[in-house]
Amino acid sequence: MKCIINRRAQFSASHRYWLSQLSEAENIEKFGARAKFPGQGHDYVLFISLGGELNEYGMVLNLSDVKHVIQREVINELDFCDLNEVWADFQETLPTTENIARIIWQRLASHLPLVRVQLFEHSQLWADYMGEGMEADLTISTHFSAAHRLAPNISPEKYGKCTRTHGHNYHLEVTVKGKIDPRTGMIVDVDALKRVVQDYAVEPLDHCYLNKDIPYFAEIVPTTENISLYINNLLSSPIQKLGVELYKVRLFESHELWADYAKNGTETYFSVSTYFSAAHRLADLSLSQEKNTEIYGKCARPHGHGHNYYLEVTVKGQIDPTTGMIVDLGALNQIIKDYAVELFDRTFINEDIPYFAKVVPTSENIALYISNLLRSPIQELGSELYKVKLFESPNNSCEIYCTESDSNSISAAVNQLVLAQL
Ligand SMILES: [Zn+2]
Ligand SMILES: [Zn+2]
Repeated sequence: MKCIINRRAQFSASHRYWLSQLSEAENIEKFGARAKFPGQGHDYVLFISLGGELNEYGMVLNLSDVKHVIQREVINELDFCDLNEVWADFQETLPTTENIARIIWQRLASHLPLVRVQLFEHSQLWADYMGEGMEADLTISTHFSAAHRLAPNISPEKYGKCTRTHGHNYHLEVTVKGKIDPRTGMIVDVDALKRVVQDYAVEPLDHCYLNKDIPYFAEIVPTTENISLYINNLLSSPIQKLGVELYKVRLFESHELWADYAKNGTETYFSVSTYFSAAHRLADLSLSQEKNTEIYGKCARPHGHGHNYYLEVTVKGQIDPTTGMIVDLGALNQIIKDYAVELFDRTFINEDIPYFAKVVPTSENIALYISNLLRSPIQELGSELYKVKLFESPNNSCEIYCTESDSNSISAAVNQLVLAQL
């Protein structure tokens, strides 16, 4: 089974958008305040994603080795530095978020089986780089507040309390895809992108009653899925005029529920999140304590330790034109509760769940086990389990891709990489 693990790291650094061949006035005109002397700083947050098969220890890679490589190759080099000066790459191409992600990929690619480098400049702006030449994704996030009701022309019990008028703070993430300019390091003018999202999506939807104020929702049920589709249609052509492609609209109704409308609707996903609290110990009982400590570090301590595990479950499917839903939300939540949360919550995984008497409960193995538990009940709902993502801590998470084609595409990407010695 193919799995992706994500490791978080952070560094603080300054940068300045400044091209030496331009005059001061031209730099200010091109980059605005970002051209100001001496530059500005950020607490960058980095997520390195690595793909592969689970090894005999139930891990894709030893996370402490991964941590050391990221520290040595990236963090020690960039932390508390002036990015424009520290790596020569940034004299050639400016240290924008997307270009920093690209160069970090280049630094790590010979050491780790990378599948993605994600870099947050701050919580409203981040880039994803997947090793595809100069191509990168850039995401901005924003929010709006609106009222709605799920006014059903079909069985009202499907929507429960949501048939009453109520409202949400919707959190919106807009991802564009494009090519990094070899000189400015940008795939798009971020301020222009922010203006488009503000003018075309946030302004018309903020502080309104969707069913009454937006003619589109007079007939169409304003579910999170349908609102993400609507926003995609509002933004698609103005974003194209900026020279990039709208890749994905992700809309959160709350922290626990969101929809993705990607690639102009050819891929639509619905996700929910929940959590359980459990203890575990990483140790193979056939090995000595010394050997287990060597493999699993502190996680092998004899009496165990515990986490709040955050679990995200994503299903893939079409938006049903009648219900406006990709999947029956109530039924999906019930399945996750019955099959996963109830089983794991407030347990000592190694002792209370028979499967983990012999299998080491790494987050990879737990996520894999949960994906196997959920797959067929979700299929019986008429939907398809796409991904299970499990956070063991803010620093570590793993993802299991469950559909045949997605599992194979990770496999192909991983097989192309030469796994260098750590
Ligand atoms: Zn609602
Ligand atoms: Zn642990």
